[in-house]
Amino acid sequence: MEKSEELKNVVVPGDRIGVAEEFLPGPGTYEVNYQIRSAVVGRVVRDLLNKVAYVRSLKPPRIPQSGAIVLAVITEIREDFARAKILAVNNVAIRYYFTGVIHVTQVIEKVGEAKQMFNYVRLGDLVRARTLNNTPPFLLSIKESKLGVVLASCSKCGATLKLHGEKLKCLQCGNIETRKIGHGYGSMT
Ligand SMILES: [Zn+2]
Repeated sequence: MEKSEELKNVVVPGDRIGVAEEFLPGPGTYEVNYQIRSAVVGRVVRDLLNKVAYVRSLKPPRIPQSGAIVLAVITEIREDFARAKILAVNNVAIRYYFTGVIHVTQVIEKVGEAKQMFNYVRLGDLVRARTLNNTPPFLLSIKESKLGVVLASCSKCGATLKLHGEKLKCLQCGNIETRKIGHGYGSMT
């Protein structure tokens, strides 16, 4: 039997890497409710001889800081929030992807006016947003007039939507859709 194994997947702070019945929490980890979680960005190493799981730290990634402008793709839409995968921070692509959450109250200025998330963002949309906190999952806001959807596809045929006044229009099928549109819509590639 190998004495230790290093797992390929990169873990980020908070990721579950094992249960306390199997391993003791080693360096770079912490234990909550019998679950061992990573405290750092790195690769999990399991010392099978001593039954210790630890995380070998990698060079720290660019982690979104509160107030940063991020580029993210919408991965899930619910009635009152959307989930997104953060692709870039302050115009720099990141090596490790982080999850962001946009609550419906963080979509437009007047709270209460926003009702259904899909009126403002939809699955697959590329959005420019501002981060509101420092740790995952990152809370995102697209309230500012410059922030919002910067690229979207037609919900009916999948073609890229073009800016059409204050709405978006599909030149393929004529479908017109609404979004919370950010500055520079369509100039992202
Ligand atoms: Zn279309």
